Amino acid sequence: MGGPEVERLIALLARLPGLGPRSARRAALKLLQQPTLKMLPLATAMTEAARAARTCSLCGNLDSADPCGVCADPRRDRSVICVVEGVGDLWALERAGVHRGLYHVLGGTLSALGGTGPEDLNLQPLLDRIAEGGVTEVILALGATVDGAATAHWLTERLKPLHVAVSRVGQGVPIGGALEVLDDGTLGAALRGRRPA
Ligand SMILES: [Zn+2]
Repeated sequence: MGGPEVERLIALLARLPGLGPRSARRAALKLLQQPTLKMLPLATAMTEAARAARTCSLCGNLDSADPCGVCADPRRDRSVICVVEGVGDLWALERAGVHRGLYHVLGGTLSALGGTGPEDLNLQPLLDRIAEGGVTEVILALGATVDGAATAHWLTERLKPLHVAVSRVGQGVPIGGALEVLDDGTLGAALRGRRPA
């Protein structure tokens, strides 16, 4: 159906989160019916984003600039760093507008089953930033999973000797839940309801 080029497009679209083979076919058809208006601008945007995207060397965010827009923003409160598991969590918190400080993306959680150890996580840049001074609080905004809890405990032990207050997000994060799927109101409540770790 549609030839090998179209089949390849559908196969690639079907791998995207939230799309299956059926919705991928529908999306491909919509695009193909308006190649100039919809498809080529999308292709250009994808190429440009792929070329521009880089990982912020300070916090681990994905942005076209390094340092990223959050780290470079002079209005951010540089004394509070919110630690998240992934970039998706950072973007969710930014979208909700509930955190005025900076972030640190850990790049995962400790996982005995998944074979993720401390050396697999992006920790050193956070320790470096704390060592530079000026950071008074680190908020651990990790998912309410067994691995998230174990990671929060491990991080707390690493951070406490550095003389920063360590807190954990509280109410609203459902057990087993990831942050990035929460609605803005719940994210705000979780952050406001943080308690000492
Ligand atoms: Zn950054």
